[in-house]
Amino acid sequence: MSAWAVLVAAGRGTRAGLDTNKVFYPLEGRSPLSRSLDAIAQTGLYEGIVLVLSKDDFLAYRALTAREGACSLVKSVVAGGKTRQESAFAGLKVVPESVEWVSIHDAARPFAGEALFRATLDAARETGSGVISTDVTDTVKRVEEGRAVETLARERLRAVQTPQSFRRAEILRAHMAALADGFAGTDDASLYEREFGSATLVTADGARENVKLTHRGDFLRGDIRMGTGYDVHRLVEGRPLVLCGVTIPWEKGLLGHSDADVALHALMDAMLGALGEGDIGRHFPDSGEQYRGIASTELLRRVVELAREKGYRLGNCDVTVVAQAPKLAPYIEEMRANVARVLGVDISRVNIKATTTERLGFEGEGLGISAQAVAVMRSEAG
Ligand code: MG
Repeated sequence: MSAWAVLVAAGRGTRAGLDTNKVFYPLEGRSPLSRSLDAIAQTGLYEGIVLVLSKDDFLAYRALTAREGACSLVKSVVAGGKTRQESAFAGLKVVPESVEWVSIHDAARPFAGEALFRATLDAARETGSGVISTDVTDTVKRVEEGRAVETLARERLRAVQTPQSFRRAEILRAHMAALADGFAGTDDASLYEREFGSATLVTADGARENVKLTHRGDFLRGDIRMGTGYDVHRLVEGRPLVLCGVTIPWEKGLLGHSDADVALHALMDAMLGALGEGDIGRHFPDSGEQYRGIASTELLRRVVELAREKGYRLGNCDVTVVAQAPKLAPYIEEMRANVARVLGVDISRVNIKATTTERLGFEGEGLGISAQAVAVMRSEAG
């Protein structure tokens, strides 16, 4: 009753838009490939794993095992082919003949747990095949030249995933027959159906969570990052006092290359810090003529744009302005509304407060104003 797993990780992951094969991309600190190998090992159902990699990824795999640890169940690492079908076949061919059952799984589905593997193996032992599936919640249409020509009956449709389990000799035979006939299928079950008439679809707890990591957002979803910012500007006569984009009537204003909005500078530094993007000095240097006198709300808009390009938006922020005078309380709500509007978030996500320093230090002596900020950035789905 011995069973092995074939883990297919030879895809390019081009749809993920990442610069490496997506299964090597760290997902909250651990790659999908390592997670998938661990998941298979932890089922306790398999005596060996054949890992199928793209030839180009052998070095990356070696680096990965050095970084994240090797899975002792991996007995062979083989090079995949041009298609998923060729890759699965390459893996199946090296499973020892003494092995009776084999489960084929995609490394891009790192959340498959023991229940799914067990369900497909149980079904395979009973009927010859076992394929994880879920019901279809979207309406599915058949299209021709971009126009819907038929709406399929949803209750008769199933979405099919991996793992898929088979008798080793039978799925190997199905692959060889497909190869001989030039038949291309998108999963192993389709080759099995072709050879043996049908495959058994099973559902198990966790099938819904067994997502295939495909797009960039799949890797970023749920990522939360925090950054801090701090800034000081000198108070001088003959300049306007601008805080969070609000011009506050006062005898002095802040000195700086831009509008010297110390509060927004601290906030932008917090946001850039969360994104691992340095600080505003790097993005909008003082030496740049194009930033002379520029409104910091405009700079903040660009930071928001940068964050969006990286797949993040502000979760919340908290800004403290330290000034002995003027009294800022009457302007706080307008400042919050301003910042929330530029950030494109609800005002409840923006907190701004002001404090004095009991006349201590440069703020207390009225020589300057400082600001501190904390920002949490959240990854956006999709
Ligand atoms: Mg500044």
